[in-house]
Amino acid sequence: MKQIPIPERIHRGAREIVITWDKNHTGTYPARELRLSCQCAACVDELTRLPLLDADTIRADISPVAMSLVGNYAIKIEWSDGHDTGIYAFDLLLALCPCPKCAESHDHE
Ligand SMILES: [Zn+2]
Ligand SMILES: [Zn+2]
Repeated sequence: MKQIPIPERIHRGAREIVITWDKNHTGTYPARELRLSCQCAACVDELTRLPLLDADTIRADISPVAMSLVGNYAIKIEWSDGHDTGIYAFDLLLALCPCPKCAESHDHE
């Protein structure tokens, strides 16, 4: 069984979400990139998995206005563009982790 990664701490900033996975591992997620990674039915076609979201419609200064935990496996983020249906599972967030260590391992995939 796959183990669900659980962040130690999640911090919502004006322009980013900072996730501390453990004391040696922190990922800083730029808000816009995270908004563009939304996997909800309005942003990604549920059948084809093709993106429905037009990146040009997302402003560079988008910010997360609220954040809440969903069970113990995800966070829900409400964005300044009014979009609030996106749920970001921790395993997705770990896969998207932009820290240098993860970026390096993504390259080797
Ligand atoms: Zn969405
Ligand atoms: Zn990382």
